[in-house]
Amino acid sequence: MRNRKLRFVALLAILLTSGFLFTSFVSYFTAHESISSQVAQTTLPLTSDNIYSEIQRDLLRPIFISSMMAKDTFVRDWVINGENEPQAIVKYLKEIQIHYGTVTSFFVSEKTRQYYHPTGILKPINQIDKIDAWYFRVQKMQQDYEINVDTDTADRTSLTVFINHRVYDYAGNYIGAIGVGLAVDAVQRLIENYKHRYGREVYFIDKNGTLMLRGLSGHENDNIHNINGLSSFATKILTSPSSSISYDNEGKKHYLNSRFVPEFNWYLIVSQQEDEAEQRIHNALLLNLGVSFIISIIIIIFVHLIIASYQKKLETMATTDKLTGCANRQVFDVLFKQAQSQSKRSKTPLSAMMFDIDYFKQVNDTYGHPTGDVVLKTLIQTIKASIRESDLIFRWGGEEFLIILPESDLQTASDIAEMIRTKVESLVITFAGKTVSVTVSVGVSRLSELDTRDTLIAHIDEALYRAKDNGRNSVATYKG
Ligand code: GH3
Ligand code: MG
Ligand code: MG
Repeated sequence: MRNRKLRFVALLAILLTSGFLFTSFVSYFTAHESISSQVAQTTLPLTSDNIYSEIQRDLLRPIFISSMMAKDTFVRDWVINGENEPQAIVKYLKEIQIHYGTVTSFFVSEKTRQYYHPTGILKPINQIDKIDAWYFRVQKMQQDYEINVDTDTADRTSLTVFINHRVYDYAGNYIGAIGVGLAVDAVQRLIENYKHRYGREVYFIDKNGTLMLRGLSGHENDNIHNINGLSSFATKILTSPSSSISYDNEGKKHYLNSRFVPEFNWYLIVSQQEDEAEQRIHNALLLNLGVSFIISIIIIIFVHLIIASYQKKLETMATTDKLTGCANRQVFDVLFKQAQSQSKRSKTPLSAMMFDIDYFKQVNDTYGHPTGDVVLKTLIQTIKASIRESDLIFRWGGEEFLIILPESDLQTASDIAEMIRTKVESLVITFAGKTVSVTVSVGVSRLSELDTRDTLIAHIDEALYRAKDNGRNSVATYKG
């Protein structure tokens, strides 16, 4: 019974816990999924698209200027005519720089390999010098122009975005490279602007993952391979034209979108930290779990108490006679066995008696059944009050009661029986204006070494029969 109750409570606990856990986590993951997929699939790619198109738009003007310079008849004529009077081209470049507000403007002649600049002839280009490598790339290039981010030959410390445009003579022969340079800090300001406008981290990395360009604020890591949580995704980012990933850094979730920008030969990275919405559903999950836990505990305690109280009620109902409050025959076996072994252990005598009300049928017939009930109840109350605490009284049948008397020899038992008989005899019961008196006949026996439960009952029965036979209202003992 106890085990079954434990099993039931455990099953209930498991059901409640798994139910609550299931619903809490399903709602958490659904909300989480929709938020992260929104960030990863929509928000970040949109930002990246916006930034990319703005970059393209901002680059469009210098590309146009460079293209115009490449088509300029003055430039081409001057080169074809032998690059006389370098001041002419220097003046031209200066005019471009001032007029269009570019950081620099340049022309490199294929024939003379001179680098012309708004301040004059800068230097001759040579194939060995690493910083001139760009020119020889442009020389072999198929397309008309390239965008190159590099240090300015005139100012080695600042990064510049160059538009390098090929120049042809009227016959279509390559005669040099011309173009303008934009300061990268202009692009940096642009990125900073996006950062403030969209609340996202925006930066560029080269094909090795090295951080090339970000907003004006400083940075700790110079390569995505060194960023905790992100390093394991570095290969994925650097091998695909675009990717969406999420990673954890210092307990914070980050969403990241990358796209390859062919103009720069760099990757544009837009990333965002786990936002407030996510934090809120995270907190909601914890609250949910907490409340579910408390509710589960309350339900389990409640059910436990209800079961315990019903169990007690059922046990009482199953073992106690409702009318008299005596133990019933079901409990007798257990209690008799206990008393028997106790008597054996302590080597003390054990006796028992059975009494039966005399002519009780007549009481019922004369006064009615309800009066009979009151008689039974009152009589038992009286008897219970006059026997010892350790004596056990059972309702054996209709109006037959059995009493186990521990530590009592036959003499003590028959003295108690006699006491009961006289008490009942002198008892006057009043109910509904009627006065009733009854007597009892009592059979007494002691438990001998050889006795079992059945032989003891048989001996008591025999004595009771004799008491009845002796004219009732009497006590008889079994003398085996
Ligand atoms: P005897 O002296 O030979 O015992 O005569 P008796 O009339 O008492 O005979 P018996 O013991 O056979 O009768 C028992 C009667 O007790 C029959 C039954 O109606 C009545 N009785 C048994 N249980 C109850 C009860 O719970 N309430 C009432 N009112 N009567 C009961
Ligand atoms: Mg009787
Ligand atoms: Mg009887």
